[in-house]
Amino acid sequence: MKAAAIPLRQQRCSNHPQREASARCPECTHYFCRECITEHDDRVLCASCLAKLSLKKETARHKWALVPRLALALLAVVVIYIVFLVFGNLLLTIPSQFHSAGGW
Ligand SMILES: [Zn+2]
Ligand SMILES: [Zn+2]
Repeated sequence: MKAAAIPLRQQRCSNHPQREASARCPECTHYFCRECITEHDDRVLCASCLAKLSLKKETARHKWALVPRLALALLAVVVIYIVFLVFGNLLLTIPSQFHSAGGW
């Protein structure tokens, strides 16, 4: 634990100057009251830092969400190609069998 220069009890919330601070945000190092601070991933963060952090996560998730979509599109193309290939072969083999069996 770091020794704070000013005791927490004498600190005031950055959003509510009339309220006593209950915790310090490790991101912006500002003091906040219990109402302004939230626990997130075993860390105590202020509302604005939490919003920033979740925004970062959100954009990162969107970036990664494109990868499986592209992979799925590629997979679909490959599957369609294989299906066409198999169907093409089937269409090539079936009529010849049909011809020989039917005696056309
Ligand atoms: Zn903060
Ligand atoms: Zn507050």
